[in-house]
Amino acid sequence: MANELKIAVLPGDGIGREITPQAVAVLEALGEMTHHAFEFNHGIVGGDAIDQFGVPLPEETLRIAIEADAVLLGAVGGPKWEGLDYAIRPERALLGLREKLGLFANLRPATLYPMMTDASTLKREVIEGIDLMVVRELTGGIYFGKPRGIEKFGNEERGINTLVYTTSEIERIARVAFDVARKREKKLTSIDKANVLEATELWRRVVTRVHADYPDVALSHMYVDNCAMQLIRNPKQFDVIVTTNMFGDILSDAAAMLTGSIGMLPSASLGAQASKNREGCLKGMYEPIHGSAPDIAGQDKANPLATILSAGMMLKYSFGLEKEAQLIEQAVFSVLEAGYRTPDISGKGTKTIGTIEMGERVVAQLKQHSS
Ligand code: NAD
Repeated sequence: MANELKIAVLPGDGIGREITPQAVAVLEALGEMTHHAFEFNHGIVGGDAIDQFGVPLPEETLRIAIEADAVLLGAVGGPKWEGLDYAIRPERALLGLREKLGLFANLRPATLYPMMTDASTLKREVIEGIDLMVVRELTGGIYFGKPRGIEKFGNEERGINTLVYTTSEIERIARVAFDVARKREKKLTSIDKANVLEATELWRRVVTRVHADYPDVALSHMYVDNCAMQLIRNPKQFDVIVTTNMFGDILSDAAAMLTGSIGMLPSASLGAQASKNREGCLKGMYEPIHGSAPDIAGQDKANPLATILSAGMMLKYSFGLEKEAQLIEQAVFSVLEAGYRTPDISGKGTKTIGTIEMGERVVAQLKQHSS
């Protein structure tokens, strides 16, 4: 591939500044080994941006993100900025980036590495081997529907939110989910509450219609209450789950926590814009699901693996580099198998190492795998 792939790097706050350089180092090493040219452009975001520019998402950072093929984000926020008005809190930067980049699909894998089984609160036989992906609609549904608000209602008040989805909103998220399923086990479960909510009755109808274009993927439907139960009872039955904004918000947290380790879980938020005209590749923002962990920031204790695995997702979903993404996953697997752990995931018989050493070990494994 001759084209240079532009990556916006936004470390943010707290441990974001420690884990993001490790993921960049992994991408750099991979670039050298595979002769893909990655160009990294750094931007300031979150609390750091508030301190320097008075806003969480400066124009310059937004420009870097818009011009990039993909964004790698660390985390934003911290106690220092908690008293600020909601409109200029660090977390607003995430909403701003999602909106301006048109990121409407959130992908959260929940994969349990065999050597990490004891980190989960569930029984070994229930969670062993789980490898599922939740695809959540990110910019529509009840979080954005109008009318909304709290108003006077006779002698009391009433709070109003509106669940609304249009055909095109459902269709585009369904296509992302079918595409993701195609790259995995080809099994898609669409989650709704079609027995009670008309908006999700439409959801079910549209997903079923889109299925006609993906005959190689097996589609099933499930009510959200049943899905919550099934995720705890038998999570191994799922490959890809697609659902609305609010259901996805809740179910993706439950699914992620099946694995028991917040420092290991990557995520992707994808938009419609194809990267360099690569078919099936979407512009995306890639970040760990955890926050800025102010309690351990600056101590070389943070687990960089979620961010490194997010970089792997970037290769797969924005650049179409599936083999290279697998190399990253394999390198992480090997480091864990050799017993190395950051403090958050360490246990009996493991060797505790810091953020920097974990990053270095992944790079070393990567080089070994490809040689
Ligand atoms: P958090 O995810 O930052 O931390 C929760 C706990 O998990 C802490 O004990 C922390 O030490 C630990 N932890 C998190 N990531 C870890 C890692 N990579 N390695 C080792 N341990 C890790 O959640 P919080 O404490 O509720 O929030 C802290 C700040 O982060 C807040 O300001 C919050 O608003 C912000 N936040 C940002 C994002 C984001 O940027 N996407 C997401 C969630 C929270």
